[in-house]
Amino acid sequence: MIIVMKPNATKENIEHIEDRLHQVGLKAHLSTGEDCTIIGVIGDRKKIANLEMNMMEGVEKTVRITEKYKLVSRHFHPEDTIVDVDGVKIGGKEVVVMAGPCSVESIDQLREAAHAVKQGGAQFLRGGAFKPRTSPYDFQGLAEEGLKMLRQVADEEGLKVVTEIVDKDDIELVGKYADVYQVGARNMQNFQLLKALGKAKKPVMLKRGLAATISEWLNAAEYIMAGGNEQVIFCERGIRTYETFTRNTLDLSAVAAVKELSHLPIIVDPSHGTGRWEMVRPMARAAVAAGCDGLIIEVHPHPEVALSDGDQSLTPKNFNALMSELGKICEVMGRTL
Ligand code: PEP
Ligand code: MN
Repeated sequence: MIIVMKPNATKENIEHIEDRLHQVGLKAHLSTGEDCTIIGVIGDRKKIANLEMNMMEGVEKTVRITEKYKLVSRHFHPEDTIVDVDGVKIGGKEVVVMAGPCSVESIDQLREAAHAVKQGGAQFLRGGAFKPRTSPYDFQGLAEEGLKMLRQVADEEGLKVVTEIVDKDDIELVGKYADVYQVGARNMQNFQLLKALGKAKKPVMLKRGLAATISEWLNAAEYIMAGGNEQVIFCERGIRTYETFTRNTLDLSAVAAVKELSHLPIIVDPSHGTGRWEMVRPMARAAVAAGCDGLIIEVHPHPEVALSDGDQSLTPKNFNALMSELGKICEVMGRTL
């Protein structure tokens, strides 16, 4: 349930309601907007059902919320959330670009990639050091050595780092080097990992599961927020369908859905969403036109020798071409790049 306060409700009115909620064992989540304050009620559904709040002073109305996710919901927090990564703001006017190789392979490969994406205008360097590969015989990543390279090269270029975490026991280790934790599609419902990230002090980019509904995805984000970490960024990366021409089916309608249902920012990954480098540019353009807050794009200096996902990686030249196209689309959309 949410309690919408009247525009002239006083601080005392709000405190009184908070006290009442606490008395019956419920939690209050305050969202202070320009026009009014909204109090989100969290806790046992039966206790909420018994609440009679309409008569309390300062209350405009109460609205029952049927979805199980609360903190993630736009009902609880009508204004857009901006995730601020040391000055790079995700969810505001600017469309933020994260780019780099699928996997960190070597310092030379990473340097070349980082330089190219910085020149192209990206704000983040991406790259996996822990790779959740389909086959155990495929390259599994350089682990901490890879994380060190990411931090070093990103600092040389003035980029932020986003990298995948696959194990809850690695939160401290990954957090030492990364600015944003990436939860991959395969771990979207790894609830132990999500709970642990709820206690982490850095933002989390939560990719959509391979076959996850929007509601399951939003509930996964609720796990992180319920633990106290409110800095969550969604990432649509395509879902499994009957189609085989593309690696996944990029669901751009998820951008509009998440924008309606949640206040959290959403970015799009057209690389994993299509699996084909020729389709990355058109889908990235479409994603920005659909209203996403950023993109994560695989860029490799030499895709033909990449240890993972070469087929979907852009060359630096193609990345540059994409960035200049995006500039024009951002202008139409009232965004900056
Ligand atoms: C990746 O970003 O390289 C990756 C493994 O992505 P996903 O979890 O979306 O498959
Ligand atoms: Mn990849």
